[in-house]
Amino acid sequence: MPPKPLPAKLVIQLLLACVLSVQAVASEPNTPVIDLPVVSQADLHETFSLAGEWRFRPGDDLAWATPQFNDSNWLAMALPGRWPDRGYPETKQFAWYRLTLKIQDFDVDRDAYGEQLGIRMGKVMNAYELYAGGRLLGGVGRLPPLAEINYDRQKVYTLPNNAIADDGTLTLALRVWGGEAYNVANWGGGPYDGEFAIGTYSALLLDGIVGQIPGLIFCVLFLGFGVYTLYLYYRNRQLNNYLWFGLLAINIGIYGLMLNQWKFWFDWSFLALKKVEFGAIYLFPALAIQCVWTLLDQRIPLPLRLYQLSFVATSILVVAIPGHAIHVQSLGYWQLWMIPTLLLASILLVQKLREGNSEARTLFIGAAIFIATCINDLMIDLVQADTSRLMPFGFVAIMIAMSISLANKFTTSFSLLEEEVAERTAALSAANERLAEAAKIDPLTGLYNRRGFAEEAATEIKRVFRSGQAFSIVIGDVDNFKAFNDQYGHACGDHVLNRVAGLLRERTRDVDRVARWGGEEFIMLLPETEATGAGALADMLRETIANNLFEFEGKRLRITMTFGVAEHRKGESLEACIARADAALYHGKEHGRNKVMVGSFKGLTLVS
Ligand code: GH3
Ligand code: MG
Ligand code: MG
Repeated sequence: MPPKPLPAKLVIQLLLACVLSVQAVASEPNTPVIDLPVVSQADLHETFSLAGEWRFRPGDDLAWATPQFNDSNWLAMALPGRWPDRGYPETKQFAWYRLTLKIQDFDVDRDAYGEQLGIRMGKVMNAYELYAGGRLLGGVGRLPPLAEINYDRQKVYTLPNNAIADDGTLTLALRVWGGEAYNVANWGGGPYDGEFAIGTYSALLLDGIVGQIPGLIFCVLFLGFGVYTLYLYYRNRQLNNYLWFGLLAINIGIYGLMLNQWKFWFDWSFLALKKVEFGAIYLFPALAIQCVWTLLDQRIPLPLRLYQLSFVATSILVVAIPGHAIHVQSLGYWQLWMIPTLLLASILLVQKLREGNSEARTLFIGAAIFIATCINDLMIDLVQADTSRLMPFGFVAIMIAMSISLANKFTTSFSLLEEEVAERTAALSAANERLAEAAKIDPLTGLYNRRGFAEEAATEIKRVFRSGQAFSIVIGDVDNFKAFNDQYGHACGDHVLNRVAGLLRERTRDVDRVARWGGEEFIMLLPETEATGAGALADMLRETIANNLFEFEGKRLRITMTFGVAEHRKGESLEACIARADAALYHGKEHGRNKVMVGSFKGLTLVS
């Protein structure tokens, strides 16, 4: 029982037929207008096409193979062409084609010097036998009762000289089995694709091989490209785009190989090759969605994800379900089912194009070409439109668009990365500067620490040395601070140290450098200041500290400080100068604390 035609399929057939006004009909046999084709010797040296009208008759009788049989009352049928939807159930889908040719100046003794002649057969749905001059040359697939379907193979047969009559007439007879009713209903029957020709055997063979090479190169390129992209992904797992792109390229490569005659090199069965072909093409929309959506940085929503998975599932199913019927019966549904892919991708692309997405334009061009070729090929399958299959070119277009987009993405992300690195480097050096600055500052008082003082002093000294002017060092130490801490606590001590630092800073000039020398000791570098001036400043500071009331948690406290002063001598190192100030401080403490002691060449002078 042939399956009922899909209403949707009919609608689409009509739509496509109306909109694009294609010739949407399968070949119908008609009354013959065939003249005996005449083949010249020159034609034979090249190849002479056998496409055109042949005599046609549904039924099966081996007598129809013989040249003597009179087929003048047969119908005519275009070759290649397809049978009408129902085919010929009354003859169990058997039909014969016959063509009688006249070879001009045929030389019976051609063997002595001539070349081997041959017949090239295109694709015949679903199995056939070819006779020449009543002799069986061979065939593809097997006719019932063995009924082995095989419609894909294009073959070249040697044409024995004795198949040609002495007067140069040659009768070719093609015995075709269209397959089961569902085969014919879905895909028609009979010779449907490829070149049918007569000529020298070697030329035909070469033509066949050479003609398939571009397709083969295309597949090898896709496969190589796919593997390379997967390798890139393998090296960097973050390149998600590359994973899907690689898989898509391999998918297309495999599918393309299955459309090529070179696939027979694998020596697999017809059915196994078809499983691979259908598995690949059924999976294609799932991978295409994945690629387009990831390239456009678009999340795949759940319904789309389910739709996408349906293609994965059908791909697995057509491979897993044994036999050939699943392919024939599901292809039309699959084609309809994938139309939303084209629509959704188009909608997304247009939307992204409007948003000004940079990849959308590239992808859009590729997708537009691809969709056009898809429609073309859909028409071949759905309405048997009389055009050639263009989908391989569509695949090339979309893959080129995708690889350009991928390259763009790569360069964009690369320059983004560079920018980010530059930004981070800048941030890092800023942080480093802050850290270095922080390393010079005492956290408790906010004054320079010993390291900060050393750096500041070094630059100051250079300047002072150049100008030849004097400078002095003052070191101040809080008196009996240990006892103070013990009495009021460490927190109170900290508070007081902080205030002392503030007072020292406030009461000195901006050019003076004040630092925390360690613990409760402070150091000051006073540029352009001699010992007398420094002593006076130190005394003012001593008084300020001694008179100050330090408030802490309601308590009002007093402390005193002792200062040691030293004026820098020419040729003296900073360390030596500091050591003299320190020694003066020590002596100040000896003299009872709350004192200022100046250490000069002459010895120590108590200021107050
Ligand atoms: P002198 O008059 O001889 O300098 O007696 P002193 O007790 O001040 O001297 P000493 O060197 O024995 O003790 C210094 C004390 O300063 C010890 C420590 O408790 C205190 N001190 C040092 N650094 C800090 C600080 O950062 N915070 C507080 N609260 N106390 C500190
Ligand atoms: Mg001390
Ligand atoms: Mg002290």
